[in-house]
Amino acid sequence: MEPDEHEALRRALGRTGAEGGPWVPVDFGCPDCRGVLYVAALGKRGWLSFRCRIGHAFAGDTLLAAKENQLEKALWDSLEVLDELVQLYQVLDGRRRANPTAPADPEYDRRIARALKHRRQLRRLIDGEGPAPVRARGSNDEEVS
Ligand SMILES: [Zn+2]
Repeated sequence: MEPDEHEALRRALGRTGAEGGPWVPVDFGCPDCRGVLYVAALGKRGWLSFRCRIGHAFAGDTLLAAKENQLEKALWDSLEVLDELVQLYQVLDGRRRANPTAPADPEYDRRIARALKHRRQLRRLIDGEGPAPVRARGSNDEEVS
């Protein structure tokens, strides 16, 4: 990698105080272990290659696909947590209401309404337009979605 290319990558993707050498630390984590990723432009074509300290390695397009999968999993995990919260609020509120001496607590209704609103918004986001499909290297075919 040429020194000016190294500097350009460091400025575009790197962290301040980056170490020397062809591998530049970047500000996003490894999709497999969340460790620090490093990038280098390799070969005559300067393909970007990413790797973490423990050896997970990605070409640019495979890192993109891995990050999109990571995002989709995070969205579905968030939806699951919202479902669990609504269920927990309802169970706890039901038990509270079953006790005739318990004081009224409108906070449960607000929390349930807020969780259901967030669930609807998140579901719309998940069901909406997904990430752009990654095209294989050298492919001139139109994307099929
Ligand atoms: Zn890793």
